[in-house]
Amino acid sequence: MASFRIVENARLDARNTFGVRARAPMLVEVADAGALPELFGYAMLRDGPVLVLGGGSNLLFAGDPAGAVLSLGAQGIGIVEDDGEVAIVRADAGVEWHALVLWTLGHGLAGLENLALIPGTVGAAPIQNIGAYGVEVREHVHAVEAFERGSGALRRLSAGDCAFAYRDSLFKREMDRWVVTAIELRLPREHALRMDYAGVREELAAMGVQQPRAVHVAEAVSRLRTRKLPNPALVGNAGSFFKNPVVAHSVADALTSEHADLPVYPAGDPALRKLSAAWMIESAGWKGFREGDAGISSQHALVLVNHGNASGGQLLGLARRVADSVREKFTVQLEPEPRIIGATFAE
Ligand SMILES: Cc1cc2nc3c(=O)[nH]c(=O)nc-3n(C[C@H](O)[C@H](O)[C@H](O)COP(=O)(O)OP(=O)(O)OC[C@H]3O[C@@H](n4cnc5c(N)ncnc54)[C@H](O)[C@@H]3O)c2cc1C
Repeated sequence: MASFRIVENARLDARNTFGVRARAPMLVEVADAGALPELFGYAMLRDGPVLVLGGGSNLLFAGDPAGAVLSLGAQGIGIVEDDGEVAIVRADAGVEWHALVLWTLGHGLAGLENLALIPGTVGAAPIQNIGAYGVEVREHVHAVEAFERGSGALRRLSAGDCAFAYRDSLFKREMDRWVVTAIELRLPREHALRMDYAGVREELAAMGVQQPRAVHVAEAVSRLRTRKLPNPALVGNAGSFFKNPVVAHSVADALTSEHADLPVYPAGDPALRKLSAAWMIESAGWKGFREGDAGISSQHALVLVNHGNASGGQLLGLARRVADSVREKFTVQLEPEPRIIGATFAE
């Protein structure tokens, strides 16, 4: 069986969780990453722009992609090392992220429970260093396997090589260089559960769980997420549309002296602070706003939504207006979290 399939003029409407209309001049579905060196020998992939597309849950098609779109399908998951206390799990890029979380928990491995129910694929997880409920995937990444376009080689990068940061990585900074083909995660059988973030402990109590294990935390996180975030199957969205801005400590202090309720979080570096973008957007009056089919979720002010037939351009226009009004009110620049295709966020 051929390890790739090519579809010309392919519709991408069902391949992005905003559900906006888009077409790719060429969609290449790759079943086996081993085919990448051969594929990138063809001129359109070797010389042109290539968009690697996972589940389409962290991008906005403001226009059609200019070149080929690559979709990786490999579905393998396995334990490659296990000393009885910690195991290394390897998963192919095409695996659905939440399926991997469930697989690891089902094999008695902890670590990913706070990252339950994040949409998308394994291959995209290291791109923006996915994070939720106080945990980031970088804490468990052992290695990332990736195809390097320039050299045409399949490479294995250590976690240190990946330069992970808040919603960021080497792969995001060098978008055109890498195709992530698999990841290896280091997962313990026992570890201190992280339950202090955003209602997890309360949810566990509501579930009647007195001695929580990782599976219970995953269940609590899933219940919280289902309640708090709009389901992309019902209303198009890409989760949080804006990153929480990271500013100097002094800037955060000046803002909180004027806006005492503005939530401020540690940012890893003592000189920096992370501000709640959701609070600023809500305070600027955008939560629940709707114009045509483009809107801001009434459930969560960080979530840009497509109520039906909004175009990518309309959604982008609304997101820019939100960022402009937050800048006017708080002198803070919001940056989008999803990748924008066919336009830049700054006009
Ligand atoms: C309802 C909802 C809730 C969400 N909650 C969270 C959350 O809590 N935390 C969080 O971090 N994110 C969250 N997201 C965003 C999204 O789920 C993640 O960023 C996810 O990792 C994206 O996966 P994907 O396969 O859909 O990537 P895509 O949207 O297809 O791609 C995203 C980016 O990664 C690149 N990419 C994808 N696969 C590869 C690959 N194999 N190699 C190289 N580049 C690649 C793409 O080119 C693009 O730049 C949420 C999204 C939704 C819709």
